[in-house]
Amino acid sequence: MQIITDPGQMQAIAEKMRLNRQLVGVVMTMGALHEGHLSLVKLARKSAGTVILTIFVNPRQFGPSEDLHRYPRPFEQDVALAKSADIDYLFAPEAGSIYPEHYQTTLECGALAERFEGEQRPGHFNGVATVVTKLFNITKPHTAIFGEKDAQQLAVIRQLVLDLNMDIAIVAAPIVREENGLAVSSRNVYLSSQERSAAGIIYQGICHAEKRIAAEEYNLQAIAAEITGMISSVPGFRPAYVSFVHEMTFEPAAIAEAGREYRLLLAVHVGGVRLIDNGKFRA
Ligand code: AMP
Repeated sequence: MQIITDPGQMQAIAEKMRLNRQLVGVVMTMGALHEGHLSLVKLARKSAGTVILTIFVNPRQFGPSEDLHRYPRPFEQDVALAKSADIDYLFAPEAGSIYPEHYQTTLECGALAERFEGEQRPGHFNGVATVVTKLFNITKPHTAIFGEKDAQQLAVIRQLVLDLNMDIAIVAAPIVREENGLAVSSRNVYLSSQERSAAGIIYQGICHAEKRIAAEEYNLQAIAAEITGMISSVPGFRPAYVSFVHEMTFEPAAIAEAGREYRLLLAVHVGGVRLIDNGKFRA
């Protein structure tokens, strides 16, 4: 595995691979690598001869009061983990080489990015779309793998690729969970051991939705209220939103129609940590 920090060097390697007709897959992360990230690498390997993993904590997707400065950056540990995975290139640029002095351009996302994470984290998806586009231009992939863990981000990126005619296949990877159902996340290290085990309640909420919908309860608003109650009953757990949306548009959905697909989106504050999760259902 080769470690590259210079965008120009990465771009030159990517261009050479294109000229040699090598299929390139990319997995973009903010580091603090875990099983979820590694599952994306495995999926990338299925369709690509060369796998590039990027590690970049993108300052432009963090709000001023968010955790940019304390975000975990265990680089040596990440390198060791990446070496043990099936990765050809680790691209880990410095912030200054991605956003040099006098940098100006930011992409602006549309309606998909306005609610939920977009509403609670203003500018977040514009920052994501901008860095993803830059990393696409640098790594020139044929395929890019993104986790369903960040379902709204995945939808925004699919829209970005469609709107800007990018010739890149976007592949969705299922959510990897801890034993109690908590979605694996780099931010889980912020949780105390008690909070971490209690956080299984979020997944229990998703399972509750699954059961209720399977039993033909189509009042999604009522189910969301039940889940909000379940989560709020845990001391220190504060739901920021628990909402069903139409799978294709991410527009809120109150009553389900048989045969259609919905996604339950959840964001929960646990102490000073904000956890997100989701589940997909067919009514
Ligand atoms: P992050 O480093 O948190 O920005 O995540 C990088 C990529 O890994 C994104 O596409 C995430 O959706 C994905 N990812 C993060 N956690 C998980 C998980 N538990 N299961 C599957 N994919 C994940």
